[in-house]
Parts: sequence; structure tokens; C-alpha cells
Amino acid sequence: MQYISTRGDAPTLNFEEVVLTGLARDGGLYVPKTWPQMSPEDIRGLAGKSYAEVACQVLLPFVEDSISESDFREMTEKAYGSFSHKAVVPLSQLSENDFLMELYHGPTLAFKDVALQLLGLLYDHLLGRQGKKVTIVGATSGDTGSAAIEATRGRDAVDIFIMHPKGRVSDVQRRQMTTVLDANVHNIAIEGDFDDCQALVKAMFNDHDFRDEYGVSAVNSINWARVMAQIVYYFTTAVSLGAPDRKVAFSVPSGNFGDIYAGYCAQKMGLPIEQLIVATNRNDILSRFFNTGEYRKEGVNPTISPSMDIQVSSNFERLLFDLCAQDGEKVKSLMKDLDEKDGFAVDMKQLNQIIFSAGACNEEETLATIKETLEKSAKLVDPHTAVGLKVAADCKKSKEVPMVTLSTAHPAKFPAAVEKATGIYPDLPPHMAGLFDREEKLDVLPNDIQAVQSYIRERSRIK
Ligand SMILES: *Cc1c(COP(=O)(O)O)cnc(C)c1O
Repeated sequence: MQYISTRGDAPTLNFEEVVLTGLARDGGLYVPKTWPQMSPEDIRGLAGKSYAEVACQVLLPFVEDSISESDFREMTEKAYGSFSHKAVVPLSQLSENDFLMELYHGPTLAFKDVALQLLGLLYDHLLGRQGKKVTIVGATSGDTGSAAIEATRGRDAVDIFIMHPKGRVSDVQRRQMTTVLDANVHNIAIEGDFDDCQALVKAMFNDHDFRDEYGVSAVNSINWARVMAQIVYYFTTAVSLGAPDRKVAFSVPSGNFGDIYAGYCAQKMGLPIEQLIVATNRNDILSRFFNTGEYRKEGVNPTISPSMDIQVSSNFERLLFDLCAQDGEKVKSLMKDLDEKDGFAVDMKQLNQIIFSAGACNEEETLATIKETLEKSAKLVDPHTAVGLKVAADCKKSKEVPMVTLSTAHPAKFPAAVEKATGIYPDLPPHMAGLFDREEKLDVLPNDIQAVQSYIRERSRIK
């Protein structure tokens, strides 16, 4: 598979190069040049297979120029063997035609593990055979950081630097990152918000000397492998609900637009999806876009679903590339307007041809939905999942089509909000007991690219 940049001005790469590179040199994101197709028979054939086997089958066309089928199968088996539920991504039923896709059974209790457990093994495989090292730099609104650290801790070929917005992640989220004391793990609390952290990552990628000297690589969902791994659960879930002979709708709690973009990719590969619902909290740039055609920055408000407190969604550029008929120049000029004029608009006619719907959910509605879901379905959900459930109910087009809300985090990751809504304090699973007694290691830095780069220079093992 060849990969091209959304801004049309960077070299075409193969899978191996795309994984190790992350952001394209023209500032764009890599997308597959063509989309592998799954026929209805292919999709039917996935029924009854293990999650790891479906992952191998669905993803092989994206990786096979760089990794053999038997090596890749070994990786998917190992990656998904680390999940605490045998089904890896089990489905639970809330009411007759409403379901939850439980994405939180990985080691750090959020859906980010599904992609990062695989990405960690891809790094091991690709770096190991080249004898290369990389410096991973990442920004996290809370969950990517711990999942990436868990997937790469203790590795000789990887130094990992994770920036989170100081004071804006939950205590559980912070401690999951800062109590990992391996020498290759570096946690930085940035005096700023998540968008500042994300901008620092982009600035390091755009500093080509720095990037080349330290072999900078990305674990954020700007890395194609992250999005790719997330395509799999749309297939496994839809098949368990009757695909390809029955359509399914998905509601996706969204921030950086990586998770829902993977659903869009599944549809491009042939999965019959009725509706993809973009669910946001009050940081609603995506919801406003899909309802008005205007993409405009408005500042970030902290919420009880902090992993979605994002103003600019990096993966959105991948969809924009399609909306611009794959014209990289057009994308470049719209992204320039976003930088210089804080926004841009696209033609609603184009937007109406795609399958997205969108809505936003405020703080009171989030708490009320957690309470209602417990009362009506005896299920405790986290605040991000609650946002997905509320917007699913608001935007659902058809009662006959099964509606699957992606449950993106375990309720114990956000105990304060869950307790406020229900009076129940959700306990951490046994493997995380003691999290609050462990030693923490982190450094605080200003929102300043020079400061962050010198911090990395001093600590990197690539010299
Ligand atoms: C990251 C995250 C999201 C948002 O996912 P995107 O791919 O950034 O849209 C939603 N919920 C939780 C719990 C997350 O960690």
C-alpha cells in the first residue's frame, strides 16, 4: 500500500515509513492512496473468527508491503492477548436496539489501548530489524499518554516524551502516566491546554533538523497505524449484529476525530454503515461543522469528559482531503485560513453526501445520562460514553437500525463525575489497585517550543 499526504507535497511512502514518520513533511497527514475492498462474502466470512484474526485479515492489505502475514498475525495475537476480556471488544445490550461497544478492556482502561498495543509491537518489529531508534513525542488529553507509555515502556529502541496539559487531566489519568518509572519514559506537564500540547508536537515535526536528528515519531492519531487499528472493531461489531445483511449505526464520542474517522474508513472498505454520529461535549467545533459547514475555532472549556476537550481536531484534515476531492492545494489553503483567520467553510452540498450526523452534549446532560443509563439498563458508564449515548438518542434516524455507542473509557477512570451522577464510586480493577500509593515522576515546562526541545535533547539516548 502506498500512502499520500493530505497536502499533496510530501513523498509517497510505504507502510513502514508511514508508521515511523507520523506527520508528513509538508505538514499534512498520510492516508492510503487506494482503499482495500471487502465484499459482502468477505465480511460474512469474518463471523465467528477471533478479534486478532479479524484484525489480521482486515488490516493485512495496509501493511503487507512491509510485514509478512505470519509476522503480522503474531503481532495481532500478542497485542489483543493483553486485554482482560476474551472478546477483546465485547458488545453489551442497553435496550432492544441500543448497544455499547466496550473498548476499555485494555491495560489502561480506554479505547486508545486497542491501537497502541498494536503500534508498540509494530515499533519493536520495524525498528528491531533495522537496528534503529526513535524518539516518540506525543500530546495527550489524558488517555493516549498512558496507553502509549504502557505500550513502549522499558524498550531500548524507544525514548518516549508525553506532554499533558498541567492540571487538566484526571488524577487517575495523570498517575497512570507518571507512576511508570522506566528510564525511557518522560512525562511533561505543559502550562497550557491540550491544543498547546498538540501544537508543540506539530512544531517539532515541522523542525526538520530536530526531527531528523532525533528520529522523531508520533503516537498521536496523526500516525496512520493508530487510525488503521481502530477500523477493526467497526467490522467485528457490525458482523456480530448481522452485517453485511443488516446495516448498523455508530455513535462516537469524538475529540481528535481519529476514532470516528476509522468508522468512515470501514465504510469506504465496504462495510454497510447507516449512520456515523459525531458526539462532542461543549467543545463542539466538530458538531458545529457538520451542522453548518463552517469550521471555526472558539477556545476550549474544561469539562468532565476531558479527553474530548479539544479545539482543533487533527484527523479532521483526513476527511477534509476527501471533501476537497483529494486536492492537496485546496486542503493547504483551508488549513492556512484556519491558522490565520481562525476558520473556513465548505459547501453543505458536499457534506450532505457523506454519512455523518453530529450533536453536542453539555455537562448537565452528561451527568443525567450517566444516572439514567444506570437506572434503565443497570450499566455504569463513564462521562465520554454518556456524551455518545445522549447524542445517539438525539440524532438517531431509524428505530429499526441497531445503534451502537462506542464506550471509550472504563467508568473508574473518571470516578468523580460518575460518583457525582450516581452516588457510586467506581473502583479500579485489581491490576491498578495501589495506583494512588505509587511514586510519581514528571516535570513541568512552560508552553514554549525551545524549552521542550532542550528538555528532549538533554534526555534523549540518540546522540
Ligand atoms: C481519546 C478519547 C476520545 C476521543 O477520541 P478521538 O479519536 O480523539 O476523537 C473519546 N473518549 C475517550 C475516553 C478518549 O480517551
